[in-house]
Amino acid sequence: MHELLVYAIYLVPLIILIIVYRRKGRKRTKAAQAEWQEVKAAGLTEPPSLHPLIDPAICIGAVSCAKACPENAIGIIDHKGFFINPSVCIGHGACAAACPSGAIRLVFGTERRGVDIPFVYPSFETNIEGLFIAGELGGMGLIRKAVEQGKQAIAHIKKRRVAGTDYDVIIIGAGPAGISATLGAQEAGLRYLTLEQEDAIGGTALHYPRQKIVMTAPMTLPQIGLVKLTEISKEALIELWEDIAKKTGIKINFSERMDVLRHEDGKFVVSTPKGQYTAGSVLLAIGRRGTPRKLDVPGEEMAKVCYRLVEPSQYQGKHALVVGGGDSALEAALSLAEEPGTTVTLAHRSEVFAGAKPKNRERIKAAEQNGRIKVLMKSKVLQIEKERVLMDHNGHPMEIPSDVVIVCAGGTLPIPMLKEIGIRVETRYGT
Ligand SMILES: Cc1cc2nc3c(=O)[nH]c(=O)nc-3n(C[C@H](O)[C@H](O)[C@H](O)COP(=O)(O)OP(=O)(O)OC[C@H]3O[C@@H](n4cnc5c(N)ncnc54)[C@H](O)[C@@H]3O)c2cc1C
Ligand code: SF4
Repeated sequence: MHELLVYAIYLVPLIILIIVYRRKGRKRTKAAQAEWQEVKAAGLTEPPSLHPLIDPAICIGAVSCAKACPENAIGIIDHKGFFINPSVCIGHGACAAACPSGAIRLVFGTERRGVDIPFVYPSFETNIEGLFIAGELGGMGLIRKAVEQGKQAIAHIKKRRVAGTDYDVIIIGAGPAGISATLGAQEAGLRYLTLEQEDAIGGTALHYPRQKIVMTAPMTLPQIGLVKLTEISKEALIELWEDIAKKTGIKINFSERMDVLRHEDGKFVVSTPKGQYTAGSVLLAIGRRGTPRKLDVPGEEMAKVCYRLVEPSQYQGKHALVVGGGDSALEAALSLAEEPGTTVTLAHRSEVFAGAKPKNRERIKAAEQNGRIKVLMKSKVLQIEKERVLMDHNGHPMEIPSDVVIVCAGGTLPIPMLKEIGIRVETRYGT
């Protein structure tokens, strides 16, 4: 009787706990496996850069990594952490920090896809004297880290001045690393020039989805001091950068892209479509998105062609053509389709949207079915004219009315140019 009572008190709750634990485990596994299948079907199995590598032999299935990941890139399959959605990983390592058993390492690239990482010293100087790299181009993808690196790079740059140049430093890029470096350069009284290819401040954040919640940590900016941030919307973050630029009066040459960088006679020569400048030091804070890939067709130089959707409402009642097949193209087309009176055509050169998230593909399909978006697969832009675009659709000539063309065809990193001027670059395959 006594034994029975002990069983009832201890064993029954234990059995219930085990049943609940197993059920939860099965549910998690099912959900994670379903997502992994979708990700594989979409061909989105490669992470962009730094990402977690989970050792199943050490993983104890604590679930803390999955809970810590704000991008939902990690799931739990059979009580082990599994990297189910590699393409959305932003490499900030919250998963590794949360793992209680040390089963997660952060690595660059995979066996199949190498990632080029330039070599930098702790001062952020490359193997070329006077040429510095800060922020995500160096491999670390985080706003707070980019800010810190930009600031530290300037602390080293201000110690070296080269006579006979237009500037002490040319900073390329106005994302977090470039903004912080520009603030630092101005504070240090350096002759600086900051070039930004986009028409706005903020870097990659300009391309985050609308209202994305950005996770960051308090950071210290030159001239500003401690900025206490933890979570902030994309829009509020951009506004913060704009306010800082206004308050401090930093100067940024917007819509001016560095095309060529040369190192001659101990100084650097930066060429842009608007001019040529010399400097004793150059700080590359260009991130990893690269320069928008162009279509290279006649008419592309027209003002109606852009490479990022800024404010969909400005295209109300207009004919919009979106070119591309990745998430940014699909999201741009979907946002435009919400605007009253806007007609939207989405053109992609391939047969499928292989590079887009399943959810976006489903939304496009629904928008096509209800007539909000016209989808042209296997199509290519041939020529852009004032009020129309000439296309090749599946081998047939086609003409569509268009007041605006938004090209979302990815970007190209200037790694070949960096190699050419002698920067040591290492291709990492999962290390
Ligand atoms: C979807 C997504 C979500 C993210 N979420 C977070 C998050 O929640 N928290 C977080 O900390 N980080 C997040 N990140 C990472 C974060 O955005 C980056 O780590 C950070 O922006 C890197 O800053 P950066 O200054 O090095 O580069 P970037 O922000 O990429 O800025 C580089 C700038 O250089 C310019 N540029 C490039 N080439 C040239 C050229 N040739 N000439 C002139 N200008 C040029 C670009 O236009 C750009 O403005 C996220 C990234 C993505 C993609
Ligand atoms: S590095 Fe960040 S985004 Fe990538 S899986 Fe870990 S927590 Fe998620």
